Amino acid sequence: MASSGKKGRRLEPTKDENGKNIKHLQPPKYAPFGVFQKPILHKNAYKPRDLLNYAVLSFHNRPDGKLSFQQLEARKDFVNRFKERKMKYGKDLRTGASQQSFQQDMTDLFSYLDKFFFIGLLRDNVSLDSGIDLIRDGGGCLRGLSGKTRWCTKQHDKTLTRLSIGTNSKLYELPRIVYSLIHEMVHAYQYTFGCDCVRCERDVPNTGGLSHDGHGPIFVMLHRLVLTEIRRWGAFSGEKELMMLGESDCPGRSMSWSARESARAAFENLDKRQKKLYHSLRSQINTKYLIHFSPDGEEVVVNESRLNNKRTMMEDYLQSQRDKYTWGEAKPTSTKGGLVTEIEDDFRDDSSHDDGDEDDDNAVVNVKKEHRNLDKGSCPLPSTPNGPTGLPKTPIRPAKSA
Ligand SMILES: [Zn+2]
Ligand SMILES: [Zn+2]
Repeated sequence: MASSGKKGRRLEPTKDENGKNIKHLQPPKYAPFGVFQKPILHKNAYKPRDLLNYAVLSFHNRPDGKLSFQQLEARKDFVNRFKERKMKYGKDLRTGASQQSFQQDMTDLFSYLDKFFFIGLLRDNVSLDSGIDLIRDGGGCLRGLSGKTRWCTKQHDKTLTRLSIGTNSKLYELPRIVYSLIHEMVHAYQYTFGCDCVRCERDVPNTGGLSHDGHGPIFVMLHRLVLTEIRRWGAFSGEKELMMLGESDCPGRSMSWSARESARAAFENLDKRQKKLYHSLRSQINTKYLIHFSPDGEEVVVNESRLNNKRTMMEDYLQSQRDKYTWGEAKPTSTKGGLVTEIEDDFRDDSSHDDGDEDDDNAVVNVKKEHRNLDKGSCPLPSTPNGPTGLPKTPIRPAKSA
C-alpha cells in the first residue's frame, strides 16, 4: 500500500511484498501544545535514530513551562501512585481478586510513562499484560525474567509487552517492577515504530540491536535518558527508591550494563557468515550525532545546546502557526525551502550518518532473504538490575541458518 502527499511528500509508508518498509518517513512535528502534541506515527516507518531524537526532544531537560499539560499531569500521577502503592509490594499475594489492583497499577503506570516519555504513542499500539510469573518460554517458566516485548506480527496487530510482577505468589518490590516496565516500554516504542527496511536491518547492531536481542546503542541511550529523568523525579519528590532506580544496572551515569552485555553477546554468538550480513560495529562516539556515547562508551551524551536551539526554533515557529491547524491536521508547512524544512533538515543531519552502508545490491538481496529467518523481537533480559553478572544464561538465541 502506498500513498503520497502533495508535491510528492509521502504520508504513509510504502511496503514491499513482505510487508517491510521501503522508504523512511520523517516523524511528524512535535510541540507540547495544540495539535502538535498529538502526532500520529506509522508502524515500522522511521529510522531508529530519528525515533530516539523524537522522543528525547519531547522530554529531555525541559523546564516545566515547556512540558505539555499532559506530561505535567502524568509525572504527578506517576510519582503519587508510586508513593501510595510501594508499601503494598514485596508481599505475598493471597487471592486472585487482590491481584487486580496490582495489574491496574501497571496499566496506569504504563499510561503515565507513555504520556511523559513517548508522547502517548504507545497507548493504541501496545498491549500490556501483567501478572505473577507471566514470562514463559518453551512451556517452562523462567523465574528470573520479568519482562518481555514482542513486536506486532500478522497475527497480532499490537506490540505485546508482558510483565511479571512477582513470583511464587510473592510480589516483587515496586522499584524493580518499574525498572522492568521502562525497559520494556523502550523496546515497545522501538519495535512499534522502528523501520524494518533492508537497509535498517543491515545496521541493527549499531541501532536497535539484533532482532533476537533488541539492546543496541539506540536502545541503551533512550533507556538511560528515560531513567535519568525518573531519577530526577525521585530527587524533587523525595522518593529515594526513584532517585536510585536501577542503580545496580545503571550505576551513576552509566548506561545499562546488562543491556550492553546482552547486545555484545548476541553479536558475538553469530557465526562469521551471519556477521557478514550486518555492518561492522561503530563506536557511537561521533559528536555529529545529537545523542551519542561518551568517549569511554559508558555514558550517553546529549548535545544540549543544539537540542535546545533546534526545538526552540521549531516550537516558536509552530506556535506562530498553531491557529491554522485543527486536530488531525498536524501537518504544518512542509513546502520545500520553508523554515520548517530547514529546521527539519538540520535535525536530520545527524541521522543521515546512520546508514553507514555501501549499498551493495547483492548484499541487500541476501540480507533480505536471511532476515526472514531470524527469530524476532523478544526481550530476554532479567528484570533484576544486577549488572553484568546477572545476565541470563540461555535466552540469547542465535539466528537460525537459512
Ligand atoms: Zn529503514
Ligand atoms: Zn530487553
